[in-house]
Amino acid sequence: MLEMVTQQDRKVFQEEFAGRLPGKIFDSHVHIILKGSYSPSWGTENISYLEKTGWEFTVEQFFSLCKEFLPGVEMFLAGFGGPSMKVNRSHAGSFGVDNSHVFGLRLLSAYDSVEEVASDVEKYHLCGVKPYACMALKRDSGETELLDFFTKEQLEYLNKNKLIATVHIPRKMRLEDPLNRRQMAYLCETYPDITFIFAHIGRSYYKRCAVNYVDEFVKYPNAYWDTAMINHEGVLKYTFDHFPAERILYGTDSPIAFLHGKSVEINNQYVYISPEKFNLGTSLHDGTGKVVYVPFLYEQLRSVLSLDLPKKVLEGFFFENAHSLYTKTAERMFGK
Ligand SMILES: [Zn+2]
Repeated sequence: MLEMVTQQDRKVFQEEFAGRLPGKIFDSHVHIILKGSYSPSWGTENISYLEKTGWEFTVEQFFSLCKEFLPGVEMFLAGFGGPSMKVNRSHAGSFGVDNSHVFGLRLLSAYDSVEEVASDVEKYHLCGVKPYACMALKRDSGETELLDFFTKEQLEYLNKNKLIATVHIPRKMRLEDPLNRRQMAYLCETYPDITFIFAHIGRSYYKRCAVNYVDEFVKYPNAYWDTAMINHEGVLKYTFDHFPAERILYGTDSPIAFLHGKSVEINNQYVYISPEKFNLGTSLHDGTGKVVYVPFLYEQLRSVLSLDLPKKVLEGFFFENAHSLYTKTAERMFGK
């Protein structure tokens, strides 16, 4: 494991975060990448920054990085694999869930049978599923819709067992897309016992995406947002101002959040600006050496803390909201 924390990171932690973070943090969005789940070329092609962690990202690596970057905080996580049709989705759930500090979701393709999914949920004590556009029906057409992420049978199984689905909504327009929002509402309404955690506030990395649309989901008690990789103060502020705080969850999208950089809004778009040499998707590489960066993780914490939320709201956001959701689900399913 490469050392990734810098002197500057330590200084920023001491100056800006020490004493201001709650003692316990539940990270509701962590990609756990087990070597045995993927073909060797998958990482190099898809997540080249995994080079930093030896082409895997284990629960142990997550905890040890948290010790470096968030010293003194007791960490909890909800993990799931890296989505791909090339992954062994069953194996990807075998990362050692204990439903105490480590909770998990099963990667879900619309091509998986309910029997396979249910058997993995039971075997690995998972609390739900993590579907994704690249594992959905019509996934190669470029027109994947949210409803293509699941089959009806899968949704009925999830609803019957009151499980969680963390959903990365598809399509270019994200939360601005009326079809996405109609289908999100349809899912919440039709399957009231599934908890839908819409990841990255519906992929709202820039403000126009979240504004006006977050409000539409207030009325669905089973609609949650996670805030993974949202560095944008305006997006976070809008969400906390317009949505019940007890349904907003902290998440990092680790391991990417440990890289140095910042997600920045430009002309109703966003880009990751980063000194790292890796391709991070929509990213600009800054090789000038003139700007000193901290990890995305810290930029997100900065934005959240800048909102001056009441202590109780912060504790709920960082820990209690996700912890109680996952604990209740695990207790109901597995009796612990
Ligand atoms: Zn993610």
